[in-house]
Amino acid sequence: MTRSIAELTAVLTEPGRITRSGRGDAMHRLIVELYPVCRSITGDGMRTSLLRIKECVGLTLHEVPTGTRVFDWLVPREWNIRNGYIRNSRGETVVDFRNSNLHVMSYSVPVKARMPLSELRHHLHSLPGQPDLIPYRTSYYTEDWGFCLSHAQLESLEEGEYDVLIDSSLEPGHLTYGEAYIPGEVTDEILISCHCCHPSMCNDNLSGMALTTFLAAGLSEGRRRLSYRFLFIPGAIGAITWLALNEETVSRIRGGLVVACVGDAGPMTYKKSRRGDSEIDRAAAHVLKHSGKPFSIREFSPYGYDERQYCSPGFNLPVGSLTRTPHGEFPQYHTSADNPDFVRAESLEESLAAYMEILEVVDTNQTYMNTNPHCEPELGRRGLYASTGGQTHTPDDQMALLWVLNLSDGNYSLLDIAERSGMTFQTISRAAGRLREHGLLKKGGVGP
Ligand code: ZN
Repeated sequence: MTRSIAELTAVLTEPGRITRSGRGDAMHRLIVELYPVCRSITGDGMRTSLLRIKECVGLTLHEVPTGTRVFDWLVPREWNIRNGYIRNSRGETVVDFRNSNLHVMSYSVPVKARMPLSELRHHLHSLPGQPDLIPYRTSYYTEDWGFCLSHAQLESLEEGEYDVLIDSSLEPGHLTYGEAYIPGEVTDEILISCHCCHPSMCNDNLSGMALTTFLAAGLSEGRRRLSYRFLFIPGAIGAITWLALNEETVSRIRGGLVVACVGDAGPMTYKKSRRGDSEIDRAAAHVLKHSGKPFSIREFSPYGYDERQYCSPGFNLPVGSLTRTPHGEFPQYHTSADNPDFVRAESLEESLAAYMEILEVVDTNQTYMNTNPHCEPELGRRGLYASTGGQTHTPDDQMALLWVLNLSDGNYSLLDIAERSGMTFQTISRAAGRLREHGLLKKGGVGP
């Protein structure tokens, strides 16, 4: 049996389901499982993570060779790391990659050397303002090596000679990304994209990967009008690569969302697409507005996650980004404190439900024609208008019938009607369904 997105959403938003025993907990378990894997924009950490996700959803892994031209960029060399440490003159290991994969700067070239602390310091990164946390640093496009450690630890290092080892490789290989496609009744599609390139970080990275996995799993068992494409890619270069290799697909993208930072306790934040007033922008705003919970909506800016690429002027796709606390605005961001304790099952579950509701709106948003436009049809005769007593429908449901009948002249979609009436899309959509059952509404018009 297949279930519509609305039915799947209902399961997700049932009060009893928003508990630690629901999908939120399962997403959190996936996060904990993938937390130790050392991911980067290329390499085996990415492959391992995608192969695990492939066990949950039908994912195709693509391998794009190093040196492939993708617009103004080249696919970089593949980076892998096996070990890394700093040892003092007594042979004691003071920084060990095995304790945290944040300790080695991502894309560090191999090094094996002995040097005094004064020289080593040029390669050490810490956060003086957050002295107990290990920072996350990368050097993808400049050959360099480095270690990241807490500022407290850095301060405790004695003068003297140190042995440093980074057992890594930076060689021709591939950029790996994962893609899942769920066909619907029409080929117009919704793009859901998350970055997978950070090592041990939970809100920025793993929460998006977990939510996207569960969203894809949920939609693959549903009945949908639109088609859905899910991308698990390295940030920036992954989106650039996918867009460069899939220009034909791009014309079918009707809307999209970039998923990240969906597990913290902050309120939902929607960042609009560059267009600002596309259907997905309006659907996201509508769902958040009627959620009864705090939220914020922000205008587009050319910074952030992969909406930067999807909204570049040559594509200008209607792709926004739905997060909780945006990147860089929580103190744990890009540090060792973005750990499994920082992300919560309840937040993940609530975020997933918001995504499902938004997709339900775009999936079912249609424009209809009133088949009886000359004055109101007699609803009572059809059992659509409540007589006194024994009401099976709420006053809202009745008003929704009148709104849908009045505005369905082919120029207004159900989302337009929901916005104009101030009612929820669900109420308007339910009214449209009842009117269709009674032959008072037919598909048509200029809208979606
Ligand atoms: Zn990040």
